[in-house]
Amino acid sequence: MLLLQCGISTPVVCILPKDEKGVRFPYPALFFQSMAIKKIIQIGHPALKAQNNKISSYNNPILKRLVKDLTDAMIAGDLIGVAAPQIAKNYTVFVTQPRKTKLRTGIGDKLRVYINPAIIEFSSEKSIIFEGCGSVLNGQLFGPVSRPKEIVIEAYDLQGKKFRLRCDGILARVIQHEYDHLSGIEFLEKISDYKQIMNSDFYRKNIRKSKNQIEASKINIVEFEFI
Ligand SMILES: [Zn+2]
Repeated sequence: MLLLQCGISTPVVCILPKDEKGVRFPYPALFFQSMAIKKIIQIGHPALKAQNNKISSYNNPILKRLVKDLTDAMIAGDLIGVAAPQIAKNYTVFVTQPRKTKLRTGIGDKLRVYINPAIIEFSSEKSIIFEGCGSVLNGQLFGPVSRPKEIVIEAYDLQGKKFRLRCDGILARVIQHEYDHLSGIEFLEKISDYKQIMNSDFYRKNIRKSKNQIEASKINIVEFEFI
């Protein structure tokens, strides 16, 4: 049993759920949350710069809930990726789903979940893609960011199975963007030319369908394997 102070004067005694091995889930902060769609927090919020903790227990309802919250926030925010610190949950988890949104073309990939990720390879070849972020003016600011074109990431899925993913294009891009969030890094810190920062309307009209943005976003490589 854990003794938790839940924002009221009387401590509340509660029993946290157990995972598949019978171990009590160690994240009380995730246990107490409302069912509403989580708000994407904005730059300046300390959770975006806080240390993120590794997940140590898989295949349990609390972790599933965190991933659902991330997915819901991504869809509601019309985003293609969200990291846990962006909903003020400081854990090393993020989700991606490049797809057609109000600000993106239809280049797509399925919903993917990354728990305790590590990018283990970065290509020397780089590409420039205009990025935005749900935590920066709610996605209303875009700027060019140069990043490696192709990456290899290792992470765990919800069941705790480790996988390796090699990819390029917008998938490699969103993975690197979300991975940076786990280290407290915002894309603004990596903009390659500050003179090209723009509002989302200008991005939508002038950049979204530009040759470079389309070409650099193309996903040619998606090699997934459990390891
Ligand atoms: Zn972001």
